[in-house]
Amino acid sequence: MTKRYELSELIRGDNFIDGEWVAAVAGKRFDVTNPATGEVIREVADSDTADARAATDAAARAFPAWRDALARDRAAVLHRWHALMVENADALGRLISLEQGKPFAEGRGEVMYGASYVAWFADEATRIYGDLIPQQQRGKRMSAIKEPVGIVAAITPWNFPLAMIARKIAPALAAGCTVVAKPAEDTPLTALALAMLADEAGVPPGVLNLISASRDNAMPAVADWLADNRVRKVTFTGSTPVGKYLARASADTLKKLSLELGGNAPFIVFDDADLEAAVTGLLAAKFRNGGQTCVSPNRVYVHSGVYERFADLLATRVAALKVAPASDPAAQIGPMINERAIDKITRHVDDAVSRGARVLTGGKRLAELGPNYYAPTVLADATPDMHMSCDETFGPVVPLFRFDDEAEAIGAANDTLFGLASYFYSQDVRRIDRVARQLEAGIVGINEGILASEAAPFGGVKESGYGREGSKYGLDDYLSIKYLCQGGLE
Ligand code: NAD
Repeated sequence: MTKRYELSELIRGDNFIDGEWVAAVAGKRFDVTNPATGEVIREVADSDTADARAATDAAARAFPAWRDALARDRAAVLHRWHALMVENADALGRLISLEQGKPFAEGRGEVMYGASYVAWFADEATRIYGDLIPQQQRGKRMSAIKEPVGIVAAITPWNFPLAMIARKIAPALAAGCTVVAKPAEDTPLTALALAMLADEAGVPPGVLNLISASRDNAMPAVADWLADNRVRKVTFTGSTPVGKYLARASADTLKKLSLELGGNAPFIVFDDADLEAAVTGLLAAKFRNGGQTCVSPNRVYVHSGVYERFADLLATRVAALKVAPASDPAAQIGPMINERAIDKITRHVDDAVSRGARVLTGGKRLAELGPNYYAPTVLADATPDMHMSCDETFGPVVPLFRFDDEAEAIGAANDTLFGLASYFYSQDVRRIDRVARQLEAGIVGINEGILASEAAPFGGVKESGYGREGSKYGLDDYLSIKYLCQGGLE
């Protein structure tokens, strides 16, 4: 029987190293707060290099046995972990809402989404095939086998506290790697709860090690992993500047890297689009998690022939969105993660308005609800000189840009350093083929706003990073190929 826990039983405050819950070596702690109220939920370990080193030591000891475990035994452990996540989806969903702020329905949805990667990679663990190479010389047999890369360091952001870490740990464990992980300082509790369930599922001591650290200690703790030759791979989701730093700092030990970084997603509405469908798709893509997703449309380009009609339809739907704490069952948008996030949104909107943007709805903080709320906002007459055209706002703000022809829209969409997600709406089959091929992005949504799936390759191009998560390709990032050449066979 899979065990169901109360929310309070899932909240842990220590590091999980070598199968044990331990305080930070230096004895330090920091507060995790509820972004809806600013209240402290729990103190957690504030780890530094000594804790990072202890995690690596445990992962190194556990690696040989986990690497050599039968694929079906690794798969069975992952399936049990998946079952525990699903059984505890309500409590985990509430925990996500508590520390991250998203409405409960979204928090629970994130649990099921993250769990789907665990089930996917549990199955993939049993399908890590090699190749027997067609014979090239008499008496010689050549083959290629796949092996786990070794210890993986996973560093994750706050916007999906469960899904981001699950979709890194699951392929790593499936491949036979061991893991050291550090979740974001704003949201470590969900990750620690996942470690507790992994332990219950039978993940052996040292195979998964998780430490929490404050923003100040994140750099020294992670730096220890970057400098350590035993850590063979870094997998990171977060901002592009931190991703570049990780790539530079791990160059000395030539680690394999997967970087899922910032986006600045374009969303194009052509004049042949189904406008109602485009508005629905934009709402789904933009306002999930209050706009705090790396695939959130950041620049919406609308053909001038349908611009005013689209803007009206959109503003009406956006004005009706319910902003409330996650504890309100009707909530569609919760608080932003912290004061820094609110400051950035405010700066972006103020800058756009000062350069001529028209506020169709929103455009202000909702201080009466709590410290970190911002009204869902639609801005018309956006132009390329505005900050939000080149920098992710990471909030519930839609700027509407105008265009007159297809080439202009594609040029504007691609005029960014980033290339994660992109979206367009059109009903012309030839245009669909043309535009999909020309958009510089790792992911293209065509008449669709919700793209993520454990069966699909998720990742970017340009400064949005490299590597893919999910799908049949997702395991390759955690494997290396070994060539075997056997002679003397004749
Ligand atoms: P961040 O990149 O600063 O943090 C992500 C993770 O990296 C956290 O665990 C953090 O503790 C860690 N980290 C930060 N600095 C580090 C350092 N020097 N060494 C080692 N680890 C370090 O991202 P953020 O503060 O969470 O958000 C800032 C911006 O990042 C957002 O506005 C958004 O543009 C982008 N972002 C992207 C995603 C995504 O899914 N791609 C997610 C969250 C944030």
